[in-house]
This record gives sequence, C-alpha cells and structure tokens, in this order.
Amino acid sequence: MDSESHSYFNSSETGKPFEDCISCGLSLKEDPGLPYLVAKSFRGDECIFEYAICEHCRANMAQEFSDESQQALTGFFTQRIEHEKRSQLFSSCHLIDPWIQKCAACDTPRRETTTHSLGGILLGEAMVYDPYPLCLCGTCEEEIQSLLSHQTLGIWDDFVQTNFDCPPGQQLDLPTRDRPALF
Ligand SMILES: [Zn+2]
Ligand SMILES: [Zn+2]
Repeated sequence: MDSESHSYFNSSETGKPFEDCISCGLSLKEDPGLPYLVAKSFRGDECIFEYAICEHCRANMAQEFSDESQQALTGFFTQRIEHEKRSQLFSSCHLIDPWIQKCAACDTPRRETTTHSLGGILLGEAMVYDPYPLCLCGTCEEEIQSLLSHQTLGIWDDFVQTNFDCPPGQQLDLPTRDRPALF
C-alpha cells in the first residue's frame, strides 16, 4: 500500500484518517467491517469541503432520494464512467494515483480542473478499489446535480445544513457553488 497517495483520503484538516461518521458520529475504527465513504472537494490544491460517512448512513440517505433521482445517478455513473477501462487499473497496479488522475466522467486531467471532488471507499485504513476511488470535475458535478429532483436536492441540502457549520450557499465555495459532490 502506498501510504503517500493514501493520504489523499485523510482529513485535510487533521492530516490523519477520518475518525467519525459525520452523520451518526460512529467511530470509523470501532467496526472494522463497516466501509465508509470519504468525499473531498478542492479548488486547485485547497480542500474546501470534506467528510466521511459510514455505509449505514449513506444507504439511509440514498433511500430517501426519489426513484427518479436514484435512476438518474445510476444512469450517469453507468453510462459516463468507463468501468471496464478503470477495472484494468486494478490489475496493473494498486496505487491510488491512476484512479484519480482524470475526471472519471469526462477525462479532464485533475490538474487542469478549477474545482474537483474525490470520493473513496475505505475499510479501516484500507482503500476499497473499483469503481472507487474516483475524481469528478466541477462541470460533471454540476451535470449530476442537474439530473436530480428538487426533493432529492432538498434532502442533500438538509444533510449539509445539519452536518456542517454553514448553510448551503452562504460561505461554502464549492464546485457546484452550494452543494458538495454526491458520490
Ligand atoms: Zn453513520
Ligand atoms: Zn468531468
């Protein structure tokens, strides 16, 4: 395991692995069998938003999304991401870098994006590969959010408002202006 690139998914605030689920507060170390998602948004090299959420909370939230939105999200990830090509990365190497070098949907190099987000699934401190970890550029994030119903965006806004200090659209400087990426 490459510990250097692994730090992509550490908390930028502490420099260490995330410790708690942002939603239920569960210690992510306590249940080594429970995967969790780490999502981070960047403007250039600066991390502007980050969180870790346990699989239970993520599944609960996804269930609240409208059927339409769930289908739209699945459709986007199935059609726009070249899963087979990405899977080959797994057989060739076990490094994080190749997985997040480009936007998974439009192939724009990460370094050339103004804003982008990274999503990774971790189990303890181990990365769970394929289809994650992945990078989405700000443009593709906007496209994803434009596919979601108002109801679903409302649920996502509530999540952000409940779990982060500032309400959406006020101080957050995010790729999608007021909402972090959905992975
Ligand atoms: Zn949780
Ligand atoms: Zn893109």
